[in-house]
Amino acid sequence: MELTNQQRNVVIIGGGPAGIEASKALDALGYTVFLIERENRLGGHLGRWDRLFPYGTPADDVLGQMTASMGRVKWFTSTEVTQLNKLERGYNVILSNGLSVLADALLLTTGFTLFNASKKEEYGYGIYDKVITNADLEDYFSGIPVPAVGNPRRIGFVHCVGSRDEKVGNRYCSKVCCATAVKQACEIKQQFPEAVVYCFYMDLRMFGRGYEDMYLEAQKKYGVIFVRGRVSEVSEDKDGHLFVKAEDTLSGKPLRVTLDLLVLMAGMSHNRAVDPIARTLALSTMEDGFLKPKDSLTAAQASYCTGVFYAGACTGPKTLPETMAEARAAATNIHEYLQEQ
Ligand SMILES: Cc1cc2nc3c(=O)[nH]c(=O)nc-3n(C[C@H](O)[C@H](O)[C@H](O)COP(=O)(O)OP(=O)(O)OC[C@H]3O[C@@H](n4cnc5c(N)ncnc54)[C@H](O)[C@@H]3O)c2cc1C
Ligand code: SF4
Repeated sequence: MELTNQQRNVVIIGGGPAGIEASKALDALGYTVFLIERENRLGGHLGRWDRLFPYGTPADDVLGQMTASMGRVKWFTSTEVTQLNKLERGYNVILSNGLSVLADALLLTTGFTLFNASKKEEYGYGIYDKVITNADLEDYFSGIPVPAVGNPRRIGFVHCVGSRDEKVGNRYCSKVCCATAVKQACEIKQQFPEAVVYCFYMDLRMFGRGYEDMYLEAQKKYGVIFVRGRVSEVSEDKDGHLFVKAEDTLSGKPLRVTLDLLVLMAGMSHNRAVDPIARTLALSTMEDGFLKPKDSLTAAQASYCTGVFYAGACTGPKTLPETMAEARAAATNIHEYLQEQ
């Protein structure tokens, strides 16, 4: 007897934007969807951001819209997969809340983790009080007290922290941090109009619609100073000011500036929380740890393992629109797969 869509279970691991979007799409196709999130709320990293590039849309509004109608999706927060067994057809998924689900398909939407900026000791994160990350600055913009910010008069942003960096094993570009830096540089100028703001970059990757306008606005309206060159060293004087050495590679001259705040554009790293699942299912990973799709051009949502699919930043750095598009593509792929079973 043929099963109805409702009699087929899809388990989605990771309740960030990718997991939420895919769960709703699969629910709309009639499947019984279980969405598993290990944190105490849905939303993933989107829940930490204040405003989104390129138009400054409040992240809370976007997340609110996404979670407003979860349909019949059975979603669980503060829940993890404790056991996963491959069956002849599908998977037996045992959850930390005691629930056991026979899944006809699995979708991994486990996302990324922010690069641990303290690994780049030369920038002084975790050593000097006035060195923070892009995520800390988002907290500040969201109204969470970040005492390091204070009342800064000179502020620097360092691009490519933990990305495009052979030394930390991340050769890839994290894609979102140039746009985030430009967005945050404009926002900090809105809050502290008198401040002098520098962006130290290697290349500016402002690839999306509206991004170039944001970059022009940063220069023309806010007077952000873009310096092409890597910061080589950060130190602190006895008054807590930061002394930053960089090389301006366009003029070929060394540059030394004293700053009150340094913001590190930490990139996207692979999420180690997926590693046990990847090992259990013998999934392929790339050299940087991100999950490896079957084919990055023609089967980006498929894994090498039958019935297991991917969406979002678990396979590499993605913007939010890319993540959502992948989530919908994964739902379509799962639908096609299940119709053939
Ligand atoms: C500083 C910064 C700012 C950004 N700003 C923007 C922006 O303005 N505009 C934009 O387009 N993009 C932006 N992005 C990118 C955006 O955050 C990502 O595209 C998006 O978060 C990816 O969604 P995701 O669901 O794939 O992953 P995530 O957001 O990482 O969500 C993954 C979820 O899976 C959960 N999870 C992981 N492992 C498990 C497990 N084993 N069991 C259960 N749950 C698990 C995690 O807890 C998390 O909730 C920004 C990124 C950064 C770093
Ligand atoms: S997006 Fe920009 S800051 Fe981020 S890794 Fe790529 S080049 Fe560096």
